[in-house]
Amino acid sequence: MVEIPFNKPLITGSELETISDAIARLDLSGDGHFTGLCEKMLQRHFSCSKAFLTHSCTAALEMAMLLLDLGPGDEVIMPSFTFTSTANAVVLRGATPIFADVEPGTMNIDAEKIEPLINPATKAIMVVHYAGRPADMDKINSIAAANGIAVVEDAAQAMGSTYKGKPAGTQSPLSALSFHETKNIVSGEGGALIVNDPRYEDRAAILREKGTNRQSFLQGRADKYSWVDLGSSYLPSELVAAFLYSQIGATAKVTTSRLAAWGRYRSNFQSAAFPGLGLPEQVSEDAVLNGHIFHLLLPNAERRPAFLEAMKTRGIQCTFHYVPLHSSPAGLKFGKTPHGCPITEDTASRLVRLPMFFDIDAQTVDLVSAAVVDVLNEIAK
Ligand SMILES: *Cc1c(COP(=O)(O)O)cnc(C)c1O
Repeated sequence: MVEIPFNKPLITGSELETISDAIARLDLSGDGHFTGLCEKMLQRHFSCSKAFLTHSCTAALEMAMLLLDLGPGDEVIMPSFTFTSTANAVVLRGATPIFADVEPGTMNIDAEKIEPLINPATKAIMVVHYAGRPADMDKINSIAAANGIAVVEDAAQAMGSTYKGKPAGTQSPLSALSFHETKNIVSGEGGALIVNDPRYEDRAAILREKGTNRQSFLQGRADKYSWVDLGSSYLPSELVAAFLYSQIGATAKVTTSRLAAWGRYRSNFQSAAFPGLGLPEQVSEDAVLNGHIFHLLLPNAERRPAFLEAMKTRGIQCTFHYVPLHSSPAGLKFGKTPHGCPITEDTASRLVRLPMFFDIDAQTVDLVSAAVVDVLNEIAK
């Protein structure tokens, strides 16, 4: 029987070499040689003011919320259809996530649903680029500007995507990337805070270094280093940075190969035209995707467990995505959902993700597509 995994982390082949180099340097904690090299590569890729490597996207999101000085009574609008880290970063500051609904074709926050949620307590909008598809940033930024609130991008899934010719993650002052092993570019666990507004640079360095001005001290801009602000330990070790250094350069190649698989899946299902099956929206002129996720919306939610089980029996691993945060135990406790999220509830209950990884070939994509149609016919009976 075939065994097709859902994900396979990218390995480029030069990881051991760069890790050995890091070991030979006898400099294993954070912010050393390889951290610097990775940050330079990211700064070039994003043309951003500064990239800070972190140990996760979760850490980068927490840094972003600290930089916005969020506190009790503040509200942050975000999609309910996202990972818990987007919301936790807000809740950890004592502020309140306000959940908004998504667009069914993209699973991104629906810009039309944002404005009615804005009130004097609103401090920011957090945008998630689901599956690496950039959200409608021009529209969201203009709503934010008109209301004097900040925008932060959770670009965890968007490494390699572009919006209107610029990398996703550069349309707001602060954005967070993930290099978790499930993402397109990986370091096991890992992330980065992309700073597109230089005003945040100095404080971001302090937050990442346990609230100390160690970086200014090392750069000779302070004569001693001490505790100057809030902070935590958000740095990855040099071993992780060395691994990541072997990966960042593969971004373009990985994007091309995943996009080819994404396009093939989509055209396979478009031809199959199974009744009631929802496909991800066709790509608009504004965006280039990165093929991070290929998902389908099944005709009905009740049959999803049977679908996943039947695919597994055929040796093909598929999964669902996101129990909506607004209806989860912590979401009910910490968040608010003033206008409900009916589209999120419906689509999230029908969504399945198909196998997708950097070297998935056309033959495998066709085999999975054919199995999906077979199983859909089988469970429809
Ligand atoms: C993966 C992911 C995260 C968390 O990333 P970590 O690097 O594991 O902290 C946050 N938000 C979204 C949208 C993600 O997909």
